[in-house]
Amino acid sequence: MKTILAARRGQTRAARRVRLAVLTLAAMLLCPVAAHAMSCTDVDAHAWYAGAVTEMTERGVMHPDAEGAFRPDDAATRLELIDALWRGLGGSVREADEVSFPDLPARNAAVDWAVAQGVVKGGEDGMLRGGDNVAREEFAAMIWRASGCPAPKRMLNYADAAKTSAYAADAAAWCREQGLFGGVGGNRFDPRGLVTRAQTAAVLSRYLALDGAEPPVLTGCVICLDPGHCVTPLSGKGYREPVSPLSDETKPVYTTGTQGKGMTEEKLNLTVGLKLRDALRALGADVVMTREVSNITIGGVERCEIANRLHADVAVRIHADGNNDRSVHGVSVMTPTGNLLGTPSIKDESVRLGQLMVDAVAAETGAKNRGILPRYDLTGFNFSEVPSVLIEMGFMTNAAEDALLETDAYQNKIVSGMVKSLLQWYGVAE
Ligand SMILES: [Zn+2]
Repeated sequence: MKTILAARRGQTRAARRVRLAVLTLAAMLLCPVAAHAMSCTDVDAHAWYAGAVTEMTERGVMHPDAEGAFRPDDAATRLELIDALWRGLGGSVREADEVSFPDLPARNAAVDWAVAQGVVKGGEDGMLRGGDNVAREEFAAMIWRASGCPAPKRMLNYADAAKTSAYAADAAAWCREQGLFGGVGGNRFDPRGLVTRAQTAAVLSRYLALDGAEPPVLTGCVICLDPGHCVTPLSGKGYREPVSPLSDETKPVYTTGTQGKGMTEEKLNLTVGLKLRDALRALGADVVMTREVSNITIGGVERCEIANRLHADVAVRIHADGNNDRSVHGVSVMTPTGNLLGTPSIKDESVRLGQLMVDAVAAETGAKNRGILPRYDLTGFNFSEVPSVLIEMGFMTNAAEDALLETDAYQNKIVSGMVKSLLQWYGVAE
């Protein structure tokens, strides 16, 4: 304590720095961080954030209060976030970094570092507002600036993107493609939501685990896969659904599709859909299926609503073809068009993906490329608020193509082509 008292009496900047160092050292000795983790009295071991809180407190990045409470549901303050980022990144402070804010009572090494790194700037009135709570988009911007403002690879479509402030758009996109923010559900980022201390621990745990390696290429992408048709007792009973939100016209809803020698179209669509789901998830994508079983009652409007609710980047409908002329064969992709389209703005991105997909699948499988086919009459397009394509993988009425379609190896080639086209569409592959 003598050293601390002596330093306290010192008036020079050097002496203040000694005092800071000694206080920091004393704090480290007095507060063994491992003990903190044990003493977070208000963290349920089964809570989704329990692991992150334990890790962050053990590493000394965040701290419980004197009573051992972590206060996981409390909104974090700006100073708490600055302090945690500084500790997590092991930021150092130079003499020249010293900054002052009218509303910051004493020199704070974490704030010095944060200002020097451009992590925080202070408000227009020159205040730091260290005790204020922080919106998720601002936290994203702090992390992004601490990382050197890297350019995001993709501008991701998410449900509340329009609510994200312009200054935080790149930061939010980068943080999402690094997989840092999650847990809000519904493909939302919740930019104006306040960051809780539990979220802070979870985000920082992921952030500090980034090793400079690129995350999986489709991290942050939300893709809806829709294997066509279903097995339902309602099929063939005359149930109908609207063709478009803009029309009174209806068409049969629960249709069975075509049929091959050893497989129904419904089964083939599902088999390929599940393979594609696994392949895309392996690349980091968030994949939502309209169905993962055969026995289910689901119509076209409902299928659209699944992707619409999520604000998925794209919905891919998976089908196989049939024709009375059994010589007809080849792969094609249908795309939305026409004045029954409820969301006309989806057309261009759908066509772009459709062309990429039919070319890639034809190249992978060696099938005849029948090109893209614009359709104005499909419920699955007219009700879709997100870009949407419908692949016809081949003709189950053509004996030779059907024999191929029913093999594992050929299905894998189709999946490979579809994955390639999605990577191209997202701009992460040539
Ligand atoms: Zn079909």
